Amino acid sequence: MASHAEKPLILISSCLLGMATRYDGRSKPSPVILSELGSYVSWLPVCPEADSGMGTPRPPMRVIRQVDGSIGLVRPADGFDPAPMLRAWIERTLPALLSRRPDAAILKARSPSCGLRTVAVLDAKRPGATFPGDGLFAAALRQAAPELPIFDENDLATPEQCQQFLQQLTQR
Ligand code: SF4
Repeated sequence: MASHAEKPLILISSCLLGMATRYDGRSKPSPVILSELGSYVSWLPVCPEADSGMGTPRPPMRVIRQVDGSIGLVRPADGFDPAPMLRAWIERTLPALLSRRPDAAILKARSPSCGLRTVAVLDAKRPGATFPGDGLFAAALRQAAPELPIFDENDLATPEQCQQFLQQLTQR
């Protein structure tokens, strides 16, 4: 475990803590994560979309694999591609987040930014088809910190899974 404070530091999607940062202006807290882990860890909340200046509420967006194979974003409402601003924010912010030496990360499922393997990625070559993939922030985090244990919120959906998570942290 990193040598900061007494409690493990957990990087977490801020909407899971109840912050109203979602695209629809609402929060979606995880009661299990809050009640089972809240007393034992310190949180390092992050919302890639709100923090990068997209505003809240904001139009929903999707991850898309372009015809050339590159991964991008598309906002179906107006065709705008928010990927450059999100990637610029990630480049600026991720080193600072990782310099805090988090012990693990917990990310919101299915989000085009935070989703970990659970995002329905559009395929520009096959209109209407999707495949499972990462959100842009999750992908960047995995690449920048391959040793960091990263969890999808659904990995911590029960008190038992949360207890296991805490045990794993103390064994690191
Ligand atoms: S899933 Fe990620 S980007 Fe979306 S509201 Fe939650 S923290 Fe922000």
